[in-house]
Amino acid sequence: MLELRPSCENCNRPLPANSLDARICSYECTFCADCVEKLLANVCPNCGGGFTPRPIRPTTNWKGDSYLGKDPASTKVRHRPVDPEAHARFAAAIRILLPEAR
Ligand SMILES: [Zn+2]
Ligand SMILES: [Zn+2]
Repeated sequence: MLELRPSCENCNRPLPANSLDARICSYECTFCADCVEKLLANVCPNCGGGFTPRPIRPTTNWKGDSYLGKDPASTKVRHRPVDPEAHARFAAAIRILLPEAR
């Protein structure tokens, strides 16, 4: 199940379960839209993959107990600020090595 992390890993801005600004990579690394666009250039600093908007888990039990009330968002903060210069080199290297995949 997708782990709905509570905040941006870089700037620690709160990203509640209903936030439209949450972005995730395929490993669920979670950042805010601002950091993904302005700092990360859509490259995850942990795995090198891209980001997608995080889906909203329903707050209402529409069907079969698949909702936030039974499967709440995570409260475990992962605050690991990104070094902008190191990340710029990392993102540039990925673009050179994998131009088509990225
Ligand atoms: Zn952020
Ligand atoms: Zn990642």
